[in-house]
Amino acid sequence: MIGFGGLFIFGTLLMLGNVLGGLLLASPFAPVRNLRFLKYLIALGAGFMLAAIFIEIMPETIGMWTDGRTGEAAAASVLGAMTLLLAGYLLIHLVEHTIAPHFHFGAETHPESLLRPSAIYAAIGGLSIHTFFDGVSIATAFLVDYKFGWLVFVAIMLHKIPEGFTAASIMLAAGRSPRVALVATFVIGATTLAGVLAVAVLQTRMEQAVVYALPFSAGVTLYVAASDLIPEVNHQEERNPLVSVVVFVGVALFYVLHRLIEN
Ligand SMILES: [Zn+2]
Ligand SMILES: [Zn+2]
Repeated sequence: MIGFGGLFIFGTLLMLGNVLGGLLLASPFAPVRNLRFLKYLIALGAGFMLAAIFIEIMPETIGMWTDGRTGEAAAASVLGAMTLLLAGYLLIHLVEHTIAPHFHFGAETHPESLLRPSAIYAAIGGLSIHTFFDGVSIATAFLVDYKFGWLVFVAIMLHKIPEGFTAASIMLAAGRSPRVALVATFVIGATTLAGVLAVAVLQTRMEQAVVYALPFSAGVTLYVAASDLIPEVNHQEERNPLVSVVVFVGVALFYVLHRLIEN
């Protein structure tokens, strides 16, 4: 099983993904003009994450929750896991769309909705709670199994660059300086790392932490993939139908990687 140091390294890599996304927009050498690859990355990430949830995380979760049970008893224990999954899904809906005014992946094009300073804090705060649970998902996956951890790591890493880009674009659209925009990407990166470390600490206190964290983080990941990333892909589709196709490439890629790693 992976140690504290290993988890710290993976958490730091995710943080760097966020910062890199911010640098694409808010550095002096920012290649702002040609960011079409980000749309493909969002689509690839969406497909890859969806496949990770249904091919990897859910079977593992059900296996843990039904261990030694059959029939009615197994169904009753799966209810607990599914409730946690729903709770994870709804938490991200709450922080991104109920507490924060509005949120979508990619370049912010509605500066009017960010005029109040509180709107920016709400947007970055909501995104930070989401990134905290990105960290929780990764750490939980690595605690289950090393191969499992790698697959979930790649799935989540794929949306880290667009995520950092999104945070930076919110700040710039609200009229903040590129330096402040980069600070925002550091904040969401740091909360990702905090999520990783929180699970590492929790696991040392509570033997069964992973059993509960796994379905909850699956719900969080499902929200990010299906309700944050997919709508952004659909939004791009009018101008570029190829972006939608890339979702299937993401699914296929995950499946191939899953088969390769399992064998
Ligand atoms: Zn907007
Ligand atoms: Zn995320």
